[in-house]
Parts: sequence; structure tokens; C-alpha cells
Amino acid sequence: MSGRPEILFPLFGDLKKLEGIGPKSTAALKSLDIEKPRDLIFTLPVSGIDRHPRETVQGAAQGEFVTVEITVETHIPARQRGRPYRINVSDAQTSFQLVFFHARGEYLSRLLPSGQKRIVSGKVEYFDGMIQMPHPDHVVPIEEANEIPRFEPVYPLTSGITQKTMQKGMRSALELMPGLDEWIDPSLKAQNDWPSWDCAVKKAHGPQDHKGLSPQDLSRTRLAYDELFAHQLTLALARRNARRKPGRSSVPTGHLSQKVLRQLPYKPTKAQNRAVGEIREDMAARTRMNRLLQGDVGSGKTLVAFLALLTAVEAGGQGVMMAPTGILAQQHLEGLRPLAEEAGVVLELLTGRDKGKERAAKLAALARGDIQILVGTHAVFQKDVVFDDLRLAIVDEQHRFGVAQRLELGAKGVAVDVLVMTATPIPRSLALAQYGDMDVSVLDEKPPGRKPVKTALISDERLDEIIDHLRKAIADGRQAYWVCPLVDESEVSDLTAAEERFKQLRASLGEEAVGLVHGQMPHADKDAAMVRFQRGETNVLVATTVIEVGVNIPNATIMVIERAETFGLAQLHQLRGRVGRGEGASTCLLMYKPPLSEGGEKRLTTLRETEDGFRISEVDLEMRGSGDLIGTAQSGLPRFRIADLESQFGLMKTAQSDARNLLESDPDLKSPRGHAAKTLLWLMEQDRAIRLISVG
Ligand code: ADP
Ligand code: MG
Repeated sequence: MSGRPEILFPLFGDLKKLEGIGPKSTAALKSLDIEKPRDLIFTLPVSGIDRHPRETVQGAAQGEFVTVEITVETHIPARQRGRPYRINVSDAQTSFQLVFFHARGEYLSRLLPSGQKRIVSGKVEYFDGMIQMPHPDHVVPIEEANEIPRFEPVYPLTSGITQKTMQKGMRSALELMPGLDEWIDPSLKAQNDWPSWDCAVKKAHGPQDHKGLSPQDLSRTRLAYDELFAHQLTLALARRNARRKPGRSSVPTGHLSQKVLRQLPYKPTKAQNRAVGEIREDMAARTRMNRLLQGDVGSGKTLVAFLALLTAVEAGGQGVMMAPTGILAQQHLEGLRPLAEEAGVVLELLTGRDKGKERAAKLAALARGDIQILVGTHAVFQKDVVFDDLRLAIVDEQHRFGVAQRLELGAKGVAVDVLVMTATPIPRSLALAQYGDMDVSVLDEKPPGRKPVKTALISDERLDEIIDHLRKAIADGRQAYWVCPLVDESEVSDLTAAEERFKQLRASLGEEAVGLVHGQMPHADKDAAMVRFQRGETNVLVATTVIEVGVNIPNATIMVIERAETFGLAQLHQLRGRVGRGEGASTCLLMYKPPLSEGGEKRLTTLRETEDGFRISEVDLEMRGSGDLIGTAQSGLPRFRIADLESQFGLMKTAQSDARNLLESDPDLKSPRGHAAKTLLWLMEQDRAIRLISVG
């Protein structure tokens, strides 16, 4: 599709053209994410002021807004600098004062001439038992009473922007609004009694009362739906494109997986069997698989992934699994290798560290089909990596990649089945927003016999006790992780904290006993430190959050997290998931710096009370709100201006099915409604969707 429809140009024009908005306001508005008239009109009032006229200020509460007709009596100019200028006035029942600081008498005599009537509107305050109205917001002659809005919208502000500027700019932005053809399904619209788009925008900015500000207001609901629908349409387009591309049918013979399953020391859980079944069915189908495997830490995703890879091999092809870091790729290799050996399948590792001849040899073997399963980092998708017959790509720990990158992967045109694995349980509503283009398998059951991790909260004033405790644990042959605080966003300061703690622990526990690993270390050093810990040569591993995801060292049974209150719930859950993986009883010590904030306390006690990742993710969503949960930039999750994922889950579901239905009946968005929907995508800046339409 060619470009932004002309009808939208005014909304994407220069903010400075709006009334009352100059270069300074334009700069200030950026901090509210407002860069175009379009952004302005999607910034809805957050509250409102009732300015219906009343008889009198008598009986008004402190801080209440009152609009009242008054007769101006006497002016009392300030007697001293810094004292206010007062004007005695009376309404139908009582007398009170208008109060002005730093006002010029001449101006006030013109605005409020003695003996005349005016309408004033402002906040009422009590001072020494007297009623006052400091700096009324509106002062108009009786015949201009209509100038005062009956119900005045109040917008979010930022420094340098006043309510007046915002309102003025908004009015002139609203004048730019085009009428647009309807993109919502007519029956859905009728059923909900939704207004048309332009009508909804205008109503949302001109609420008549407080009800008009509630998320349940019809105009607001419609605008929220527009956002969700645009987002779901993007995901549906991605799904359509993926399904359009010819897929391969990989039918498993079972001859390899049988072997592996027979030798397993345990039985797969019901959830594992179900997920494997769903994956095999997708792989056997002619359409491409685009599936998410969601499972909490320790739910046994590795086995499911391996059986999926074996399906590709059984069908005569190859599989690849990509992890976000070298450490994790290495670990996948170690987890998968014993299984591969049982199946008699060749498994190799490819990371950025492979260089020269060795790398060339691996690539050659891969191209010949001699390597059947490849595990690695992003390196596995470099241009010169060529497979003989790639049938399945598994992307592990998806939450580090996000929607945008996933769509890129699809756009590479790799004609393979895709399985994405995530260890971050996501509440249903978010799953729908983030993975609405995918089918989902959930491992909602943990392998039996897992020992709970004992979790305790400890003030950091008791650091010495914790170190004593560690000393004893080490003497018993146990191992511990020690995670250092996130000082701020920068790796550098995390690093200093980690290095200092490392020195201190070495001094008290012994030089040999303590290792250090952090994100800034050269790869080789990082690996060496991990390997020493894995082999039990070091007893304590001091780390920044690089160990967060996926690291599996069963003998490590103690997790100490410093300044735990500064971490997010999901992250704490991931970190704790590093212990409780072996035979021994495990402990997680959440160290905090008192006093705990309310939020900090809620997070830490939630963690102490449950190990259920889904439960934890729900609390997280509840506490933080959806925009924040995954980190918008990181996740590719859109920051909705109007919709609220948490309370509008139902609306999101409707948007998903509506979007999928529209594409089913009009795959190229050629019908009148399809055209309107394209305009919506432009309006909502769904650039990815727009690209998807053109490549589709
Ligand atoms: P995750 O989902 O965190 O990747 P893993 O696949 O690493 O979990 O599995 C965690 C541990 O549980 C591994 O040691 C694995 O061997 C074991 N495991 C996996 N499935 C089962 C099962 N069905 N019964 C018992 N143990 C299992
Ligand atoms: Mg894993």
C-alpha cells in the first residue's frame, strides 16, 4: 500500500500550527509523547470540573469549584508588597472575597468594576472562617455566561504546559478531524451502541459530567476498541502472512522419539504430552507452525523442545534452537546432548565464538545435513549459515526478543515451522496482546516430586549473619548464587556493586570459594567462571542478573538476592527458579534495605507466599499495569493511550476475533471496510502492519 492516506495528513501535520502552541510548547509536549495533532486528540481528559452555575458559594466544601453570579462591591488593594489584592463581592446569599496575588489594580478594576455583576468560576477556600475564591479561573459579564463550559475537561499536563494551552490546542486539533469510513463491524458497533469515530473523539473531549470520563463511557470504549483492534489487526496480518507462505509437512515416524522416551528416567507430565501433541500436529500440517510454548521455570520445556526437534529429524530434516545468550546456548547443548545421544542424532553448537576453520567445518556439515540439530545464539541465523533441510526453528526465552523481532524472523522468509519458548508466565490478557498472532501451548503442571523453595525476607542489616550461614552451607558442600542489586539502568554501576561484594565475600569465605560473573566480562572469562561453579570448584557465584534466565545447576540450592525490593516480581521469580532444581532442599534469601515501600513489601511477600508463576504474573500486572509489565520497548507491546489491558481483556478478545474474521473474509483489505481498516492502521501508526500488507 502506497502511503498514508491524504485524509489523515492534517492529523500528522505540525503541532505548531495549532492555536496557542509554539516551539516551546511543542518541545514540552514531547514529554507527554505528543508530537502531532493526532497524539493530542488521543490524549483524553483525566478528570473534569463541574462548572454548572449555582445560587451561592454558601455551603461549598473546601476546594470545591463553584460558578456563581456576583455583584462587585469594594476593592481592597494590597497594603504591603507580597500581600494579596482583595475584592469584596456578594452573591444571592452571602458575601465573600476574590483574592489575587501579584495583580495590578488597574487590570482588576477593568475586569471587576465596582457595582457591576459578573459570573465567576473557581475554587472555594476557607481562610479564617471566611469564604474566598483565589484567582477565579473564569470572570465574564453576565451576557457571556455561556463562555464558561458547564463541565470542563482537565488534561494531563507537563511542565511548561498549562491547562489553558492544552485546551486551546485541543480545540484547534479537533477542528482538523476528518470524518472516516467505519472500520468496526457494523453489528458489533450496533450491539455496543458505539458512536462513529469522529463523534466518539469529540464526545470524549467534551464530557458532560463525571460519567463521561469513565472507561465505560461509550465513546471512550469505542476509542479503546480502535486501539486494540488496530493492534490485533497487525497480529492477524502477521498470522495471515505466516499461514500464506507454503509450509512443509513434517510427519513424525516416532522411531527416534520412542527410543528417547523409553530411556527417560521419568514419565512426561500430562502437560508435556499435550504440548508435544499440539506441536506434532502443527508440524504435520501443510501450514507453517507459529506456536508459543509457555511454561514456568522448571516445567520441563527442554524435553518438549527436544521432541519437537526430533520430529523434524524423523521427517528427514533438521532443527535449530536459538537462545538469547552464549551461556544458555551452551546449557541447552548440555541438556539436549544426552537425549540426542540416546536417539543417535548429531547435535552441534554454533555461537559467535566459532571462528575460522572450525566454524567452516561446522557450516559444511550443516549444509550436507550431517548435523541434524543445531543449538546456538543469533549466530545460527547469520547469512552464511545454510541448512540442508531446515524444518523447525525454536526461539528460546522469547521475552528478550519481542513482537517486532519475531515478525522480522518471519520476514526473513525462512520457510520453517517456528516454536517460541518463554519461561515468563504471562497473564492471559497480556498473552493475547503480545502473542495474538500465535497459537499457544501451556505447560501448566510441574514434574512431580519438586521440593518447594523456602523463601525468607531478611533486612540487609543482617549481612554478617547471612555470610555465616553461607559459610556453614559451604562446609556442607552446598552452593549458592549471590545476585547483586540493580543499582540503576547501567550495567557499569551494577558491576561496581558486584565487584565489591565479590571482594568482600572472598575475604570472608576464602579466595577459592567465590566466583564472579557479569555481563561485561569477556566471553571466555564468563564461561570459565560458570564452568568452575558448575563443577563445584567455586561454592558461591556472585552475579549480576546475567544468570536470570535458564541457568541450570542442580547442586546450587541457595539464592541470595541483594536489594531484592529493587527487582521486579517476574525477575525475582526467574532468579529464584535457579534453585530448587536438584535433590537438596533449597532456600531463597531476599535481602532488602529497610524501610520497605508498600509496593516493595507486596512484591517480596507475594514471592514468599507462592511459587506459582502465573499467580505471580497476575499480581505483577495488577501492581504495575500492563504498559510497564514487560517493558514496552523491549516487548514491542504497544503503549495504548486509551485502552487498558487489565480491565478491557474482553474487548481485546473481541478485537482479536474481529480482526481474524475481517482478514478471513477480506484477506487483502480490499472491501470498503477493509479500506477503512487500512486507514485505521495508518491512524494508529501500525507501521509493521502496513509493511505486512505490502509484503503479504
Ligand atoms: P524449564 O522449563 O525451566 O526449561 P527444564 O526443561 O530445564 O525446565 O526441566 C527442569 C528439570 O526437570 C530438568 O532437570 C528435567 O530433566 C526435569 N524434568 C523434565 N520433565 C520431567 C518430568 N516429566 N518428570 C520429572 N522430571 C522432569
Ligand atoms: Mg529452559
